[in-house]
Amino acid sequence: MTTETAHTSRTTGLDVRDLSAGYGSAPVVSGLNLRVGAGEVVAMLGRNGAGKTTTLMAIGGFLKRATGTVAIDGAAVDGAPHRRMRRQVGLVLEGRSVFPALTTAQNLKVGRVGQAEALRVFPDLGGRLNVRAGSLSGGEQQMLSLARAMCRLPRVLLLDELSFGLAPVMCDRLFSGIRQFAADHGIAVAVVEQHLHYAAMVADRVVVMHQGRLALELPSSELLGRRGEIEQLYLGGPDLSGA
Ligand code: ATP
Repeated sequence: MTTETAHTSRTTGLDVRDLSAGYGSAPVVSGLNLRVGAGEVVAMLGRNGAGKTTTLMAIGGFLKRATGTVAIDGAAVDGAPHRRMRRQVGLVLEGRSVFPALTTAQNLKVGRVGQAEALRVFPDLGGRLNVRAGSLSGGEQQMLSLARAMCRLPRVLLLDELSFGLAPVMCDRLFSGIRQFAADHGIAVAVVEQHLHYAAMVADRVVVMHQGRLALELPSSELLGRRGEIEQLYLGGPDLSGA
């Protein structure tokens, strides 16, 4: 690897350093460092209340940071969800963010890459273009929320518990769409996921949060082999959902 290539790979994507954030005087998240390279998908695991959503909100500028810096492609962005941040960061939270009274096609008229690219990644939406978003299934709505965020072509996508309440077949489609889109457009993706199976499927790397800090980081290829230990130490026992 040349020096120039090494420098590029260090500076593209998302670089979070010493992040602390919370809701009152005591921080919920402390001293968190997180790198997600361009085109890379990182899954965040951790038990309820570990601080995963808080981390996403603080990175995205939707929650004020007490300390820390966030850089995208090597340029620092400040904490406010101002125009530049909104253009560069897509945040999809649990619970779907679509306009229910508008059709799928109308919901997709938001971005820079347009409907065709969203339909390439999520072909299922192609047959639902004239259906009101509020009449789509839960999985289709989640797919549409994600497609809306992707259409804006952000540099960073922050995704919170997309699989919540969805059938495995829909999760497979969502996660393979995310991987494809991240790779094709060089987007840095951080996805909070509670099921280890899906985290291993979608991510290149996995980080585990515990009590507001990053407790463990590993390649996703090692995740399922260390499942028992990780569940015991950080997730409060085995995942009995079968996923
Ligand atoms: P979960 O999967 O349960 O959402 P999480 O890891 O995403 O877990 P957070 O939602 O970041 O955790 O919550 C971390 C802590 O912050 C919890 O103790 C939670 O009660 C608290 N918290 C979250 N949102 C708020 C809020 N709006 N006001 C006050 N405290 C909050």
